[in-house]
Amino acid sequence: MFGNLSDRLTASFSSLRGKGRLSEADVNETVSEIRRALLEADVALPVVRSFTAAVRQKATDAARSQALNPAQQVVKIVNEELVEVLGGQSREIHWAPTGPTIIMLAGLQGAGKTTLAGKLGRWLRDQGKRVLLVASDLQRPNAVTQLSVVAQRAGVHVWAPEPGNGVGDPVAVARSGVQRAREQGYDVVVVDTAGRLGVDAEMMDQAVRIRDAVDPHEILFVLDAMVGQDAVNTSVAFRDGVGFTGVVLSKLDGDARGGAALSVRGVTGAPVLFSSTGEGLGDFERFHADRMASRILD
Ligand code: GDP
Repeated sequence: MFGNLSDRLTASFSSLRGKGRLSEADVNETVSEIRRALLEADVALPVVRSFTAAVRQKATDAARSQALNPAQQVVKIVNEELVEVLGGQSREIHWAPTGPTIIMLAGLQGAGKTTLAGKLGRWLRDQGKRVLLVASDLQRPNAVTQLSVVAQRAGVHVWAPEPGNGVGDPVAVARSGVQRAREQGYDVVVVDTAGRLGVDAEMMDQAVRIRDAVDPHEILFVLDAMVGQDAVNTSVAFRDGVGFTGVVLSKLDGDARGGAALSVRGVTGAPVLFSSTGEGLGDFERFHADRMASRILD
């Protein structure tokens, strides 16, 4: 995962190995190398700036206190900052105090929303919850069938557009799905929504109307970790257009550089709650910043 970033960061520590003390020049050189590694990984500039400023401050403090084993000190400092930038402590889903918890998925087409709906469905079902997946992506020709297939695999129910529950109208499908979930005592409703290949006003407007119709407890923005520099613009567009309470990083199994993962929290302020690491229903886990940081520095 983030192979190049890992290699570059590890290389930036190697010149410190064997040194007894950290000099100011060591700190400068290491911080410059870390900056270059982050920029090359497509990490957003403001995040790079705050990251390197924090590392510089802590490394300078360590140098002043004549800390022994500089390489180890710097690895520890970078690890702490990675945990911080990746979101610190993970948080629980915001469960509804009564009635079904409504989770809406948002993101570009191909980001991994429909796949995630199945993964979430299975994960929640394994916790003993009754889950209804709602097919409000009527844009992509196959999306409803795809959601029905993943729902079946996950062993959860699906609410698809049929005469009487809003054929052709994703907002009506979402509203009627949530209504059904309330009537039938479901614990969680996951609303899949349509994305486009790029950010577009009509898609955003539709997502806003679905949001306003179902009043979700969580809006999860699904971000393809492979998208590189576009990740920041897309995330900001969704934050400003629809708003979201949490992020899911998908395709972390691919050859991503790390920029999306390391930037999204700093840029949007929303925590990463889950990560997806493959196409299978089980390729999904709670996101833990400390574990991710350790993997990067492994
Ligand atoms: P949607 O348009 O946002 O609903 O995206 P989909 O759920 O249809 O996913 C788009 C493609 O990405 C599909 O081929 C999925 O199988 C694949 N996909 C989704 N999540 C992951 C992941 O975490 N890793 C990999 N490798 N592929 C994924």
